[in-house]
Amino acid sequence: MRWLLPGLLLLALLNGCATQPKLDPVAPDQTADSDNQPQGGNDQQAPSSDPADPANEDQQNPAQPGDSNADTDTDTDVPSAGNDQQSGSQNGQQPSDDSTQPPADEGTHDATLIAVGDIMMHSPQLPGAYDEKTATYDFKPFFASVKPIIEQGDWSLANLETPIAGKALGLSGFPRFNAPPELGDALKYAGFTTVTNANNHAMDRGAQGISMTLAKLKKLGFVTKGTARSQWEADQITIEKHAGISMGLLAYTYGTNGIPLPKTQPYAVSLIDEQAIIQDIGRLKAAGADFITVVLHFGTEYQTAPNEAQTKLARDLVAAGADIIAGSHPHVVQPYEFAEVTNPDGSVRKGLIIYSMGNFISNQRGNTKDFGVIYKVGIHKERGVTTIGNVKAIPTWVHRTSVKGLSHYEVVPIANALASKTKAFPELSAADYGKLKTTYATVSKRIESMHSKPVQLHAAP
Ligand SMILES: [Zn+2]
Repeated sequence: MRWLLPGLLLLALLNGCATQPKLDPVAPDQTADSDNQPQGGNDQQAPSSDPADPANEDQQNPAQPGDSNADTDTDTDVPSAGNDQQSGSQNGQQPSDDSTQPPADEGTHDATLIAVGDIMMHSPQLPGAYDEKTATYDFKPFFASVKPIIEQGDWSLANLETPIAGKALGLSGFPRFNAPPELGDALKYAGFTTVTNANNHAMDRGAQGISMTLAKLKKLGFVTKGTARSQWEADQITIEKHAGISMGLLAYTYGTNGIPLPKTQPYAVSLIDEQAIIQDIGRLKAAGADFITVVLHFGTEYQTAPNEAQTKLARDLVAAGADIIAGSHPHVVQPYEFAEVTNPDGSVRKGLIIYSMGNFISNQRGNTKDFGVIYKVGIHKERGVTTIGNVKAIPTWVHRTSVKGLSHYEVVPIANALASKTKAFPELSAADYGKLKTTYATVSKRIESMHSKPVQLHAAP
């Protein structure tokens, strides 16, 4: 019964491996201000092939069905009937004998989806978060100011753009990332429920990095999507049910920075393939998802508007049944738009396409790379029909300060900060404060620039 918890023994083992090493701070990496393609060559540390290396346990014991695995991607509050893709019943209700009865779910449900962009860990972000006394990192301060917003989500999604395999696989920033596992703890503290890993840095520490990262995230109770330790795990349908509404979740990336997926583990990272995604959307619908969110890692870095490939793919997927496209990768925010999808029966379904949410946390500065956005989306379900309600884009800024030569970071909801009567960032000069206000206005205008005129689509057959 794959929905049942858990393979505690295996997970305890894996997570012990992931979290045990106590980490040393690394020197600030002055070059780590970019997320461009790596400079060629497979220069990352080769994952150890030593079977005695405890870090390899996860690869030798990949998640399998029937091992009472803890790694179900589904909330435990989901009724099994609603999740069982074999059952074919909708909304967790059993078919009624009386065909004259109204649809099973007559109730009204409201829930909130929160989504943010890329969680980056450049080398300069490490030393200021290191506690020499405990020899551990604490990244929670990154998220202290946004925690009250993130916690409002029934589903709160982030894209983790680095393995968090820790010192065992070598900490590093750009171009091949690997962060301390404490980053996972900070995401938990912030209030995220769901972490997607399909991005161009997923393979930065190979399949072993994926495995150790997933082990840590699963131990923390996150729903994850986009990378997998086994074919079985990759094939799992992910439906998260909250407040009576089931969200189907998918996540894909355009690529892995030229690092090939292991020949024996082609399932390790979910890659964008339009036809395959459309099939996955169909599987989620058949399994009873009320609405479907597709997280896409795509677009052109530093480009402030979506490119043609982005708009085509996103709109095709919405026409094929996706309700929300949550995009990231360009490291700057791009606009969102609405779609109105006309069904064959004339009814219209609303879709939301977010092209890029930018960097949520990173060391990147300038040209709006230090800005991100939190999306807060109302989801309404009535008489079995689920619709997208109010959409709010809350721009964020990575506030970076220097204390004793070490950088400290905090993601702040920038509109609130700037509206404060007292100067929110006292260390900024009047000129820098003015520039911050101007840049915020630019970012805000950009985010809102596409949604006033919904794109018209026809439901794909
Ligand atoms: Zn990326």
